[in-house]
Amino acid sequence: MKSKHQIVVLGGGTGGIMIAAQLLRTRKNLDVAIIEPSETHAYQPAWTLVGAGLMKMSATLKPEKKVMPKKAKWIKEYVASIDPDENLVTLKNGDQIGYEYLVVTIGIKNDLDAIEGLKETMGKNGVCSNYVDPKYTWEVMQNFKSGVGLFTQPAAPIKCPGAPQKIMYLTADYLRRNNREKDTQVVFATPGTVIFGTEPFKTELKRYVNEVYNIPQRYGYKLVKIDGEKKEAHYVRLPLPDNRTDYVVNDERNAAGCIGYVWEDGQQYVVEEENNHINELKEGTHYVIKFDMMHLAPPQSPGAWFKKTKLANQEGPNKGFMAVDDHTLQSRFYDNVFGAGDVTDLPTARTGAAIRKQAPTVVENLLKVMDGKAADYEGYNGYSSCPLVVSHNKMLLAEFKYGNVRASDPLLSRFFNLGHASWPMWILKRYGLPFLYWNAMLKGFKF
Ligand SMILES: Cc1cc2nc3c(=O)[nH]c(=O)nc-3n(C[C@H](O)[C@H](O)[C@H](O)COP(=O)(O)OP(=O)(O)OC[C@H]3O[C@@H](n4cnc5c(N)ncnc54)[C@H](O)[C@@H]3O)c2cc1C
Repeated sequence: MKSKHQIVVLGGGTGGIMIAAQLLRTRKNLDVAIIEPSETHAYQPAWTLVGAGLMKMSATLKPEKKVMPKKAKWIKEYVASIDPDENLVTLKNGDQIGYEYLVVTIGIKNDLDAIEGLKETMGKNGVCSNYVDPKYTWEVMQNFKSGVGLFTQPAAPIKCPGAPQKIMYLTADYLRRNNREKDTQVVFATPGTVIFGTEPFKTELKRYVNEVYNIPQRYGYKLVKIDGEKKEAHYVRLPLPDNRTDYVVNDERNAAGCIGYVWEDGQQYVVEEENNHINELKEGTHYVIKFDMMHLAPPQSPGAWFKKTKLANQEGPNKGFMAVDDHTLQSRFYDNVFGAGDVTDLPTARTGAAIRKQAPTVVENLLKVMDGKAADYEGYNGYSSCPLVVSHNKMLLAEFKYGNVRASDPLLSRFFNLGHASWPMWILKRYGLPFLYWNAMLKGFKF
């Protein structure tokens, strides 16, 4: 079957619904179709709270039909391919949908095959992820009574890069509240080189890891394998920039609790009980951390079918992600195509908050192209935000733009000290943001 629509939106998640709703609010008579296979729409940012037992999973989900803009046509199917030369989308069931203008917001998927052993152990052996099943994270957290709780993330891009840290703080707080601190050790291992890229949030988070929770941190650690049954995570040490001394921070308890192994020629060597020993690990060292609980963000990327389309970068570090202009969000290859959200190659953190600022730029430029003008509205400045919940009642609202430049909301800044985690920001995370998501963002209100 073949049909055609003026504007076709691929994906009815955060970006797809927001953009379609804004388009239809701006011009009521547009013919907009949204292709989305799922019956359920998820508010993913709340999965951090579900993972810590602070919110029910059911409260993060709504039927997709409730969030579909009334005037949009919902095509309930998977997209299988896009032919941008012919302005044609082919669905999994073989149907073909023509378009005049296309908006791509298909998000990214967990890629459990990208790390050896991950698929086999995810959801078992104390290996959990809020990106996969936050209810299992909460189960694991409650059962974690002694040993090492390892919190980690991949070298690949992920959505909401702060989320692997948030659940770590919530776990540390949970352990403290339940008097389990003396029998447990939370450890953070990341391929990155800093806890956060932007000041003053970096300083505040350093205070939390070093002083509030006393969490040993391993920087430059690339996760390469998980052995779920042995409860061992294998890392390779990445090349380290010169003159850095803080790749293992606050590790004085390492000798006592967080024992790992250097792995050479298929043999394990117990790390000697010297505080500085781990600091000496060189680039390429294969290191194993033993864990009792492990939370990780799996590697993520666009669906395999999308990577093959002419809209995706075919080379370079953003290979497979959609190539869009950093400021106008127009496809770098096709003028009648726009993209937003996780699937794009925008050099900023992939979050729903970022899409809130991307959507008006897509709408403005798409309407300009429809009117025969150039898509020259450079409205997007790389804004993204990460509500870092650091305890069961405090949140640090980290807002930034391209270049890791702080971009705190001027109005909120007048009333709150946004450089510190606070209770009002926690209320915003727990109640304010979900309310705004369902009742304002998805309804097409711009703010
Ligand atoms: C644990 C976790 C915590 C997070 N915390 C925060 C936070 O605190 N703040 C924040 O702002 N963001 C947070 N995020 C990130 C945020 O949820 C995402 O960045 C946002 O949802 C991305 O929107 P999107 O439209 O790009 O993709 P999605 O919302 O994922 O939507 C993509 C849609 O495309 C559909 N789709 C996929 N493949 C196809 C296909 N072949 N054909 C048709 N449709 C398809 C999917 O079904 C889906 O509905 C978090 C995410 C997670 C997982």
